[in-house]
Amino acid sequence: MSPVSMSYLGIPGYVIFWVLFALAVGLLLRRLYQLWRYMSLGQTVGGFGHLVKRVLSTIVSVLGQWCQLKNLTARNRASLGHVFMAWGFFIYIPFYLIFIIIGGGFGLSETLEHTSFFFYYAWVMDIAAPFIMLGALWAIIRRYVIRPPRLKGEQSFEALVILVTVLIHPLTHLFKEATGIALGYAPVGLGANLPPISEALSNIFAGASPAAIEAANTAFFWAHWGFVLFVLVFIAYSRYLHMIASMFNVLLQSPPPKGALRPIDLEKAESFGASKVTDFSWKQLLDLYSCVIYGQCQEVCPATASGKALNPKNLIDDLKIHLLAEGPTLVKGGEPAKAMIGEVITEDVIWACTTCRACQEACPVAVEHVEKIIDMRRSLVMEQASIPETAEGALRSIEDRGHPWRGTTLSRTDWAEGLDIKTLAEDSDIDILFWVGCTGALEERSTKISQATAKLLKSAGVNFGILGAEESCCGEPARRLGNEYLFQMQAEKNIELLKNYGVKRIVTACPHGYHTLKNEYPQFGGNFEVIHHTQLIAQLLKEGKLKIAKGRGELVTYHDACYLGRYNDIYQPPRRIVKSIPEIKMVEMGRNREDSFCCGGGGGHMWLEEHEGRRINELRTEQAMDTGAQTVVTACPFCLQMFDDGIKTKEAEEKLKVMDIAELLAAQIGE
Ligand code: SF4
Ligand code: SF4
Repeated sequence: MSPVSMSYLGIPGYVIFWVLFALAVGLLLRRLYQLWRYMSLGQTVGGFGHLVKRVLSTIVSVLGQWCQLKNLTARNRASLGHVFMAWGFFIYIPFYLIFIIIGGGFGLSETLEHTSFFFYYAWVMDIAAPFIMLGALWAIIRRYVIRPPRLKGEQSFEALVILVTVLIHPLTHLFKEATGIALGYAPVGLGANLPPISEALSNIFAGASPAAIEAANTAFFWAHWGFVLFVLVFIAYSRYLHMIASMFNVLLQSPPPKGALRPIDLEKAESFGASKVTDFSWKQLLDLYSCVIYGQCQEVCPATASGKALNPKNLIDDLKIHLLAEGPTLVKGGEPAKAMIGEVITEDVIWACTTCRACQEACPVAVEHVEKIIDMRRSLVMEQASIPETAEGALRSIEDRGHPWRGTTLSRTDWAEGLDIKTLAEDSDIDILFWVGCTGALEERSTKISQATAKLLKSAGVNFGILGAEESCCGEPARRLGNEYLFQMQAEKNIELLKNYGVKRIVTACPHGYHTLKNEYPQFGGNFEVIHHTQLIAQLLKEGKLKIAKGRGELVTYHDACYLGRYNDIYQPPRRIVKSIPEIKMVEMGRNREDSFCCGGGGGHMWLEEHEGRRINELRTEQAMDTGAQTVVTACPFCLQMFDDGIKTKEAEEKLKVMDIAELLAAQIGE
């Protein structure tokens, strides 16, 4: 007899089952309603189109566990344990739903158990059980015995409870089935072989009396369901909330293009950025519920690695703890007891981010750290006028001179002297505009990149021109430093100028300008075809328009700039260019492509001092030196400067030099 069909002290089993079930679901719904109300305090946000695409990518990411598998590297094998546990849950959950919906409590499951569907399902659950247990065991060993740096301070009782539950829960299933088989309740289905693990375990009970086996079966049944209902409630009240929230978070992640910051409607907005947790959008608050707290983000963060106050995992966790603590007051319209900026998240944390996006790329549940940090910067800069002095100087320079390099003695066209490059004011009949960018035009070392790029374009016979003195900062530093007002002013001015000249195509050697012009100017009606110089040069090489005159017997390594790689998925063109040079040898750094380590120059950090810990550019320079390469090749003027500084600080000029990819190729091209 099924345990739910029995009576316990005169109470029918199904009554006990449904009472426990109703209690668990009641507690779960109560908590979910509470969380929903806190989340609803967030600002409205749209842009959730392309539903079919979103659903498909959520299936691949969450159900297929691509979110964890993508992080599976030699450096990180722990994701596999999570994959086992998650897949196991996805197999077990439908069974529970079937059991409950079809009426487990009313004994209908016995009918169900005699179908071929159930027979096969029992097999799958049987095989899945040891994998779930293996995943949980591995997680317990890592967290409580091995204790890698990523899990420092994560040995909570809460974590142990959930992992032990995950470990024992499939075991109770196996013994429930094994005792059932021993009693002859086995799923008959097609009459073929029984689920192998349960069948093997059933041998333990050979020789025991039917009454003893029946008692064991009943105990395992209730223990199993006890764990299921406990987990159902516990996850909603614990830090394991991600088991519910993360699927929705992946489904509702920001629409492409990647890393394009949401604009503020400056005319309508009553406040700028986020000074309170309720200034975040509801989606940003859903992010907080979704965090798995395993710290894949902190492992890749250059700020954390270099000893800064910022740790992206702690940032998200601290915001979640703050929301949950203040939630009851906030829903009643009260004021939070703690100031989010200052008491929960310090200004040092907010300014330490290079916006490199490594955290987001690594995050298995699509938590978006960067936009929250920028929102807090917006509040600091636009509402509280609180900004580090050096950054303030750069912003003022953009406002006054149209560029952030306030000490420069160069004009926007000095670099082009003698190169016979036309400006659009002289002749706007061009195929492509070379957007030089403030750094390429005004920072002395970077002007060499502009000269090399122009040399390559000329050599390939490209009909291009520049804006010259009319070019103004694209606004990227202003946006990343939190001054949305200044960014929008720059964007609108530039878009108008580009439209007036009828510009259709733009090439730039700066990934920051590239990202801004390509992915953020469309927010203000600026729709241009924007390409990075690595893409254009690779194309010109492919078409045979650039002729390489001499080889270069040298070992080089290539550094993926964050705004080119992680933001825009441009990984292959620069590598193709390097490999097109005869005799050159290329070696990859340990951290490359999506996993590249930031040079330390993004997010406005060209104009921010690093006070705490080590300098990020020195860490990256050391990684380049570890390869034994003689040259580190970059494709971003910020990266070039960062390596240049790093090499000088390490006094490694004899061992390593840095070149932009355009410089590298231009040196090998015949006149
Ligand atoms: S964007 Fe980069 S620096 Fe900022 S928190 Fe993420 S990993 Fe760290
Ligand atoms: S933010 Fe993402 S990567 Fe970081 S701890 Fe949370 S789930 Fe993990």
